[in-house]
This record gives sequence, structure tokens and C-alpha cells, in this order.
Amino acid sequence: MATTAWAPPTERLEQVRAFMVERVLPNERTIEKQDDAGEQLLEQLQDEVRALGLWAPHVPPDAGGSGTGFLDYAYLNEHIGRSMFGQLVFGCQAPDAGNAEILHLFGTDEQKERWLQPLVAGQIRSFFSMTEPEVPGSDPTTLRTRAVRDGDEWVIDGHKWFSSGADGAAFGIVMAVTDPDAGPHARATQIIVPANTAGVDVVRPIEVMGHEGKGWTTHCEVRYTNVRVPVANTLGAEGAGFLIAQRRLGPGRIHHVMRWLGQMQRAFELMCEYSLQRETSTGPLADKQTIQNWIADSYAEIQACRFMTLDAAHKIDAGDEARVEVSAIKFFAARVLNDVIDRAVQVHGARGLTDETPLARMLMQARAGRIYDGPDEVHRQVVAKRILKAFANGTGWQFS
Ligand SMILES: Cc1cc2nc3c(=O)[nH]c(=O)nc-3n(C[C@H](O)[C@H](O)[C@H](O)COP(=O)(O)OP(=O)(O)OC[C@H]3O[C@@H](n4cnc5c(N)ncnc54)[C@H](O)[C@@H]3O)c2cc1C
Repeated sequence: MATTAWAPPTERLEQVRAFMVERVLPNERTIEKQDDAGEQLLEQLQDEVRALGLWAPHVPPDAGGSGTGFLDYAYLNEHIGRSMFGQLVFGCQAPDAGNAEILHLFGTDEQKERWLQPLVAGQIRSFFSMTEPEVPGSDPTTLRTRAVRDGDEWVIDGHKWFSSGADGAAFGIVMAVTDPDAGPHARATQIIVPANTAGVDVVRPIEVMGHEGKGWTTHCEVRYTNVRVPVANTLGAEGAGFLIAQRRLGPGRIHHVMRWLGQMQRAFELMCEYSLQRETSTGPLADKQTIQNWIADSYAEIQACRFMTLDAAHKIDAGDEARVEVSAIKFFAARVLNDVIDRAVQVHGARGLTDETPLARMLMQARAGRIYDGPDEVHRQVVAKRILKAFANGTGWQFS
């Protein structure tokens, strides 16, 4: 990187890179099985990460992590993201990472002690329960789940789905309408709901692209029927659900993109290596111009994503919400991620669809990236609207 303002955390970066190469990638298939052997190995690797002082790099030491800001995390996460399970090994997996951040920012001392500390320590898992099957997740002002005050308790009734990781989680953060008469963005509140509360029913892990998942890899349908939790479980202020969601989703989106950078680069490397190896009667695949175009386009697009991510991370560290930058990188990187993996699969021919390479699994995971945390179309709209507003105000848009 040319500019020192974007200097990487050199020593930790090398530690993370080496750990991914030596410990995580060779063990990926075992961990992915999520059976007893996989779970045991995962715990062992997590202990090794803790011993190296690299645990939970998304949150600062006062929240129990080893984080030193967004920019540093972008560099580390680029390596952690090379494997889908890297985030679990380093204790910075979605949705726990985002939940930890909002608990750190908005939680009371009691909430931090009860939920944040064990969450960041990796002793428990959590889920974030906002999306509902009956209304568009892209427009959460339409949410139907209700929480009604009854004395010192909230009584929650509603129906959610795609609550990722709800299977086996200790608690969820539930977005519920608490004042239906308030303005659209002041209606909802986030409430911490222990998963073992009466009336919380994790109905099923939804089968997504042929996979139900297990534990952390599930996306669950959850019903809340007459669920009573203390009002003290309110996260932040009553009615601040959207404000907190924004604080959660902004960083969450860029965390995804950081990991995608690792996925893109892994697919890119596999594409380049295989195109040199695979011989046709007229020479290796690498000699074909179409393949060269895919490699050149992928290189340019990946590098553009890297710089856009580092730029957004740098701005967030400087106190900027970077709404345009985060939305732009969310939809742009999601497309690049899918394109690069798809090209790598194509270069591998039928082998690209087998489990002899990680590409097929990567492709399957990548598709959802264009939908979760806001579909491409919504992020494009955010970017365009904000830029047009700046032009309408006469300031125009400054790229630097
Ligand atoms: C793998 C995965 C994990 C997820 N994890 C969680 C989670 O942990 N917690 C949680 O609460 N939710 C989660 N979600 C849900 C996710 O956030 C929603 O799917 C997303 O917000 C879109 O909502 P929707 O599916 O209801 O689609 P809808 O809002 O119904 O949109 C459908 C389609 O309409 C189009 N569209 C929507 N709005 C516009 C617009 N303004 N302009 C143009 N086109 C538009 C888009 O193409 C969009 O894909 C997850 C989703 C996936 C796929």
C-alpha cells in the first residue's frame, strides 16, 4: 500500500496470515463437517488464537477483544475471510460480531456483564432477529413483531425468519415494534431475549440452497408467542431500534466485504494456478485470451474492492459513518465476489462443481451476499440518493 495513512498492522497481519495458512486452511474440511471431531478441532484452534492474543479482533480490549480499529481489522479480516470458518476460529463471526458491537455501544453495565462478556469470550452464541417472512426485509419499517409493555416486562409476539445462528444460541436481539403510532423510524426497539424464555420457539433451520446447517451455520425460523422479558433487557433507548440497527448493519456490511476480499483472492489464486496447469492440445488454458481477460478483470475488480474497503474503513475510524462508501462497497463487492468465483469455477470445468476444490461451496455462500444486510438494489439506491442530494444541495460529490 503506497500511503502510510492506510498502513497495515504488519506484525499481527503476518501472524493471522500464517495461522490461516498453517492451521485453518489445512483443517477446513474437518471443521466444516461440524461433527464432534470438527467441534473439538475448532475449540483447539480457538484456544491457539487466544494464546496468540489475536482473539476477537473486531472489538477493542475494553470489550474483551484485541481490536485496534476498522482499518486494521480490514487487513486482518481479508486473511480470516479466506475460509468461511476463519471468523469462528478468530471469534469474530457474524452475527455475534455485530451483536457484540451494539452491546458494547448501547448496553447497560448489567447487559454487558451478562451477555457481552461471555459472547466476546466465545462462551455463548447469539442471533439477530429482524427479518420476517410476511413483510419485505428491505423495508423494516413494515415489521409486524410487537412488544407491548406490561408493568416491568415486555410481552413479545411475532414471527421471524433468517435468524442466523439461532440454533443453539443463548440469546437473540429482537427488533420489535413498540410504538406503532410513532414515525416509521421511531417505532421499533431492540430487545435482548434469552433463547430459553418461554414462548421462544426456534421452529426450524430453513433449508438454504440444499443445506439446513447446524448451530452457527443455520438460518432459523423463530416464533415469539407471549414472550415475557424484563424491560431492563431493552437495548439502548425505547424507539431507538432503527438507529441501533444502522450502527450494527453499517459495520456489519463492511465486515462481510472484508471477508469477501479473502474469498475473492482465494478463488483468483485457484483460477490462475489451474489455468497454468490444465493443458489443452494447443497449450495451457492460461494461453487463451478469454481466460486472460477473466484474470485481468478479476485482478482489477478485486483491487478496486480492496481500495474501496480500506477507504471506507479509514473513514469510519475517523468518525465518519461512510454511508455512501459502505453501501457502494456492499453491492459492488457482492457482484465481484460472485463473478470472480464463477469465473474460477468455469476455468475448472466440471471439477469446479465438485468438492475437490472449495469453489463450489464458496459459490453457494457468495450468492447470499447479494441479499443479506440489504439487497444490491437497495444499496445502489442509497448511493444514488445521497449523491444526488449532495448535488441538489449545490455541494456536489467529493471523491477524496
Ligand atoms: C444467508 C442469509 C442470512 C441472513 N441472516 C439474517 C439475520 O441473521 N437476521 C435477520 O434479521 N435477517 C437475516 N437475513 C435476511 C436479510 O437481511 C433479508 O433477506 C434482506 O434484508 C432482504 O429482505 P427480503 O428477503 O425480505 O427481501 P425483500 O425485501 O422482499 O426484497 C426482495 C427483492 O426485491 C428487490 N427490492 C427490494 N427493495 C427494493 C428497492 N428499494 N428497489 C429495487 N428493488 C428492490 C430486491 O431485488 C430484493 O432482493 C439473512 C438473509 C440471508 C440470505
